Amino acid sequence: MSLFLDLATLGEQLAATKKKLEHSALIGAYLKQIAPEEIAPASRLLIGRIFPESDPRIVNISGAALNRVLVQVVGAEIEWSGSAVDFGDAVAQWLTARKWKPQGEPLQILDVYHAYEEIAQATGSGSRTRKDELLAALFQRASVVEAKYITKQVSGEMRVGVSEGSLLDALARNTGIPATSIRRANQLAGDVGAVAFAAITHGEKGLQKLALQIGRPLKPMLAQSAETVADALEQISPPIAFEYKLDGARLQIHKRDDDVKLFSRHLSDITASLPEVAEQARREIRAHDAILEGEVIAIDANGRTRPFQILMRRVGRERDVETVQQEIPVKLFLFDCLYRDGESLLDAPNTTRWNELEKIAGNIPRVPRRVIETVDDGEKFLRDARAQGHEGVMAKNLQSPYTPGERGKQWLKLKPVHTLDLIIVASEWGYGRRHGWLSNQHLAARDETTGEFLEVGKTFKGLTDQEMKTLTPRLLELKTHQTRGTVYVQPKIVVEVAFNNVQQSPTYKSGVALRHARIVAFRPDKAPADIETVQTLRALMEREGA
Ligand code: AMP
Repeated sequence: MSLFLDLATLGEQLAATKKKLEHSALIGAYLKQIAPEEIAPASRLLIGRIFPESDPRIVNISGAALNRVLVQVVGAEIEWSGSAVDFGDAVAQWLTARKWKPQGEPLQILDVYHAYEEIAQATGSGSRTRKDELLAALFQRASVVEAKYITKQVSGEMRVGVSEGSLLDALARNTGIPATSIRRANQLAGDVGAVAFAAITHGEKGLQKLALQIGRPLKPMLAQSAETVADALEQISPPIAFEYKLDGARLQIHKRDDDVKLFSRHLSDITASLPEVAEQARREIRAHDAILEGEVIAIDANGRTRPFQILMRRVGRERDVETVQQEIPVKLFLFDCLYRDGESLLDAPNTTRWNELEKIAGNIPRVPRRVIETVDDGEKFLRDARAQGHEGVMAKNLQSPYTPGERGKQWLKLKPVHTLDLIIVASEWGYGRRHGWLSNQHLAARDETTGEFLEVGKTFKGLTDQEMKTLTPRLLELKTHQTRGTVYVQPKIVVEVAFNNVQQSPTYKSGVALRHARIVAFRPDKAPADIETVQTLRALMEREGA
């Protein structure tokens, strides 16, 4: 069994060198000398992950909780030094300054990992205290460098320069297994821990156990963005498939005989929340074994798409399923076929997979699709998609294989990016790397009738560190009052905000919320009276049918 200190020390060594080969050698030597049952957890921890992607558990420790626990253990409030780059660093500097001495048995890797598992499992009443106790017990036994890595891990700020890719490279170099086999196994398993364990303990043979399997979800293939139809046709030469991009939830459907499982984009099993979809798949799919992909949307009585957040009341929900099933009917549209009766289709071109899908989909609708040769055709198809209330289109290379987990150029999404001028009305203090800065901006639009500024979203995206630093004192000058963690300000600072779409909001008084908002520019040229109105946002929401 090995010490957690070794993992923390390795983290320090990796952070100190940028040389790829050295990284690889250090990681390889480390993973080869720890116990087999430590390989998977240690590999995940190295890349800043605690659980595999398909595992829904999370260790959700906020900055406030970390502060609370550290006060309990050390007896004083943490002080940030200016040179700290993240929370872990700040904790280490502060403990050093206080001449911190751990107590009790030294921590082993699995002690730490099991504590993380218990933290993730603590739910319900009393869970906050339980989580605090578990974390406090770890810090009690941790040396300064270990406390630094525990902080990094539980706050999700593991920056030691080990990406998933470099860990996989290190595995290839140190086991002699071809990098392509390692990468493919990782795409299929969705867990670097399982890949590292199999590769180190059983070599290339071990990886075969991670092959495509019904019942085990694989990471979905992802898309990059294209600005225009012409742009898409330039990146993927025509003929090219255009499909409606539906704004719903992605589903991976695994069928073996009568057994059907539905997995979400994040690989959670959500079968219980969508029983009618599972039943439809069981009844319709004309194959004994199959893995298909599609998008499920919520629809109204006229069959039109309903807002994404209405659908979210169904996806993953396990209580009162029958009741919400009546209130929120859903509809499945299929777009890919990854496996059929003993044959993996991952390496088959998109057209072949689509043809297979057509053969076995039965009465389940497919997403509307057309093979496009010219910009005009593509633009017409995009207009049709938008006119029917859909988000946009996906452009797909007809020749491309299915590459799980990769965001490549074989699939391109085309959806309009809107920008609006909004105003900052409040801001939240950041944690971790953003500690000391007002980093999460509350954005408001103007109510045309009352002149009030009503919140329509929050974002910490889009601003550089430098911009956040200079914005903080400006916001503090405009401060009107403060509640825990949030500073309310006079509405003076106008910003241009990009977002993907607008949806109904049950919480904001404005009734609308922006999805994926990010600040693209400060607009000192604009006055508060120039900003967008809540009424415009509502109209936009209705026009989008979203
Ligand atoms: P985005 O979430 O904006 O990156 O867009 C990718 C998502 O669009 C996918 O994960 C799917 O959930 C969704 N989607 C909707 N229609 C399609 C389609 N025809 N092909 C692939 N993905 C689609």
